[in-house]
Amino acid sequence: MKYVSTRGSTPFSLDEAMVKGIADDGGLFVPVKLPFFTVDDFDGAENLTDVAAILLAPFFVGSSLKPDLGAVLAETFRFPIPITPVRGAAGQAKLLELFHGPTAAFKDVGAGFLAACLGRLEGDAESPLMILVATSGDTGGAVAAAFDERPGMRVVVLFPDGRVSDRQAQQLTCWSDNVLSLAINGSFDDCQALVKAAMANESLSASYRFSSANSINIGRLLPQSTYYADASLRHYRATGNKPGFIIPTGNLGNALACIMTREMGLPIGSIVLATNANRTIPEYFDTLEWLPRSSIQTLASAMDVGDPSNMERLRGLLGDADLLRDQIDVASVDDEQIKASIRDDFAEFGFATCPHTATATHAWRHLDADTRASHDWILVATAHPAKFETVVEPLIGCTVPLPPELEAILSRPSRSVKIEPTLDALAEVMHDRFVST
Ligand SMILES: *Cc1c(COP(=O)(O)O)cnc(C)c1O
Repeated sequence: MKYVSTRGSTPFSLDEAMVKGIADDGGLFVPVKLPFFTVDDFDGAENLTDVAAILLAPFFVGSSLKPDLGAVLAETFRFPIPITPVRGAAGQAKLLELFHGPTAAFKDVGAGFLAACLGRLEGDAESPLMILVATSGDTGGAVAAAFDERPGMRVVVLFPDGRVSDRQAQQLTCWSDNVLSLAINGSFDDCQALVKAAMANESLSASYRFSSANSINIGRLLPQSTYYADASLRHYRATGNKPGFIIPTGNLGNALACIMTREMGLPIGSIVLATNANRTIPEYFDTLEWLPRSSIQTLASAMDVGDPSNMERLRGLLGDADLLRDQIDVASVDDEQIKASIRDDFAEFGFATCPHTATATHAWRHLDADTRASHDWILVATAHPAKFETVVEPLIGCTVPLPPELEAILSRPSRSVKIEPTLDALAEVMHDRFVST
């Protein structure tokens, strides 16, 4: 399989696309053509890892990692992805629980897979690969956890000092010597600007081999398709029905993986994107005009995206809004609705949901009656509620028990370096940690 930029036609191998992260022309890597499967192709696949091996094999044709795909998948899926039935006034549905990884959010799947791939591609290289990641909270933790202690890999995490929750800060700062955690005296935008400036700087690029592991890397997108394939096959085999999926959406990476999986022939019915009050996608579907903007802060903070970068991939795959809106639905859920939804989920399901997951459960409760009846629905649960306890606990009036993965992280020692958002400050701390020792 070859990969091209959404803005160009030069073909790259999967290995090159993963190491580069983003194409030189600023576009995003996409496979030149999606493979197509029938349900029978998955006969004999008994679990998620088996399904993933069949689904991803065509993407690895021509990659030096092809013989390692089984091992990469075994490393990625060291945690379960359970499907839990729920029932409430709106009927019954299933929750696809993507939050049992090391940092308790779905990004652990993509980050773990990418780390397993890059570790094999780059682990023996002469100089270490230096992954720079700017984060507003969730991404940085998943990337740090995935690359922690990996030989030949170093990670620099930049987060806005004082603007992430205590538990998020812990997830960004509790790793080994190969992870440098930087509390930047500035905003998330300052962190992102600093990463871009560092990668574009000639003298720094001469000293370090930079790469990025942000969510647009094709190595994070591909593995996300596997849980949609597995969940839809399970449901289809058990009931004969294609399930619909409702997916909390910010940068559109998780939902794009589901849409790609349906394009590959897997038994998936309707797909509903649940956004928060950042309405760039819903308004695009309404007005047919693409108007990216700055994000606004909401309770579902990991979905606070005003310019979803994966829209470029989605438009390349399916077309513009006039075509997209016939194939995908979208629901926008504001903070008051998120709060109501967290309360409803707790009352009806008997357990709490996180503010992101609550956008999907809200969208499900408010589907019109015909749409709701048209499918069996799978609601995608993207993070564990204990990660967002300051939002969730006051609403449900009790504490959310910590899952073991978060407990393990919270008990580790934490360390970070505070710096000003300047290239000089960044160069100095990187030198202190990685060169002078
Ligand atoms: C990142 C994130 C999302 C949004 O996923 P996208 O792929 O950016 O659409 C939703 N929920 C949680 C918990 C996240 O961390």
